[in-house]
Amino acid sequence: MSADTETGVSTVIIGAGPAGLTAAYELGKAGRTATVLESDTVVGGISRTAEVDGWRFDIGGHRFFTKVKPVRDLWHEILPDEEFLLRPRMSRIFYRGKFYDYPLRAFNALGNLGIIEAVRCVLSYVAVRIRPPKDQTTFEGYTASKFGWRLYRIFFKTYTEKVWGVPADEIQADWAAQRIKNLNLFRAIVNALAPRRNQKSITSLIEEFEYPRHGPGMMWERCQSLVEEQGSEVHFRHDVERITHQDGKATSVVATTENGTATFECDHVISTMPIPLLVKAMDPAPPAEILAAADGLTFRDFLTVALVVPETAGFPDNWIYVHAPDVSVGRVQNFRSWSPEMVPENDKTCLGLEYFVSEGDELWTMADEDLIALGTAEMEKLGLLGPGLVEKGFVVRMPKAYPMYDGTYRDNVDLLRGWLETNASNVYPVGRNGMHRYNNQDHSMYTAMLTVENMVNGTNHDVWSVNVEAEYHEEDSSENAA
Ligand SMILES: Cc1cc2nc3c(=O)[nH]c(=O)nc-3n(C[C@H](O)[C@H](O)[C@H](O)COP(=O)(O)OP(=O)(O)OC[C@H]3O[C@@H](n4cnc5c(N)ncnc54)[C@H](O)[C@@H]3O)c2cc1C
Repeated sequence: MSADTETGVSTVIIGAGPAGLTAAYELGKAGRTATVLESDTVVGGISRTAEVDGWRFDIGGHRFFTKVKPVRDLWHEILPDEEFLLRPRMSRIFYRGKFYDYPLRAFNALGNLGIIEAVRCVLSYVAVRIRPPKDQTTFEGYTASKFGWRLYRIFFKTYTEKVWGVPADEIQADWAAQRIKNLNLFRAIVNALAPRRNQKSITSLIEEFEYPRHGPGMMWERCQSLVEEQGSEVHFRHDVERITHQDGKATSVVATTENGTATFECDHVISTMPIPLLVKAMDPAPPAEILAAADGLTFRDFLTVALVVPETAGFPDNWIYVHAPDVSVGRVQNFRSWSPEMVPENDKTCLGLEYFVSEGDELWTMADEDLIALGTAEMEKLGLLGPGLVEKGFVVRMPKAYPMYDGTYRDNVDLLRGWLETNASNVYPVGRNGMHRYNNQDHSMYTAMLTVENMVNGTNHDVWSVNVEAEYHEEDSSENAA
């Protein structure tokens, strides 16, 4: 690869997802080019829009919602305003045959539960105020302390355990803190009683969001075009497997391609590949304890079963959480509710059934037609679809969708980060898996933007502090980020 003709600097970016393409685009604006290496055949990473026979669907629905103004501005710089839809947001929890508003609304929840259960829930909340859970560093303890054990078990435990595949007392509170910060049952009741105008800022954020008319992939396809117009290159089917380093700096990035290996000299590397794989790709290899820390970082994988059904069989929600423990499906998206333009036939819709899995497990390895049959059967069992309504289905698997927040992840990340800073200080991990951080697109992109600013302007932004402060998080209320 040749260096930037203007500056003589070679920058390699690993991954053409939101963070990688944002980095390339920001570099381009500063008059620099880069080489983007992408192992897959499409842009967008987890934020791609899958398309089969004209049916479009996300890897989980992707809201464009952020408190970070530079990111919001960038979205509108990349994609013209007319390509965005402002969508009403509606999501509910389906529990024991009833729909509960989500984010939780106190009176709706307590009313749906019935007077006896509601009283038990309130008493259970009072009990945790008097005797808080001993260990609030776990998801279970933290959430129970905010809502009481009873509401925790009804509304948080099952879904969380489906997502992570382990008991909720083995998941760190960080995940809950990002999602339900500042909210507890008392506040939920106060919010419900407060005059509506006092809740305006909260409500408006919760009730609508932006969405590109053809899904999030549209943003990243457009960004790829802009990046190429700026003079950067995006190479698909380039799977980065080795990064050589010497005297504290990375010197080249080696990718496996259809035609063998390709080597790219580098002055800088911006990496969005999973940080444990990045560290394991370093040549010479890091010491055993660093490799062990890399092996200690794990992920949860994800698959979507998309079912085409008559429009009338859909629901008004963007998505529904399924809390029933006797089915495996965790969440169901209705892509027509996201954008009617995701659906090529007027009288149909496409439902996206989300399964949280582990690569290689029974669901991950199940044949597509069996997954479609399973999804159909589960929807019928739940009563969310009548019999015989599914016309066809598609399956998309997404490995490493969720960086796992277990008891040792923070220490492991710190070790890898420290090793990279000493041994390859020109390698900058950014993004979601790139930093092993539960970042949405906005924070994934923001880490890339700040990194480019550090590279180009010599600023000293601490990229690792993005999305650590509770401030950064979305709604001021109970929220399921993805
Ligand atoms: C179910 C779900 C729902 C979500 N919903 C939302 C939402 O509503 N709103 C929102 O803003 N965000 C949402 N997110 C988060 C969003 O998907 C991520 O924040 C975003 O895609 C991360 O961008 P990234 O570039 O860091 O990583 P990725 O999207 O993971 O992209 C990384 C890219 O690097 C490539 N790559 C990896 N390894 C290599 C290698 N060795 N060599 C070359 N290329 C490599 C990958 O193929 C991929 O294209 C959701 C995530 C999930 C899982």
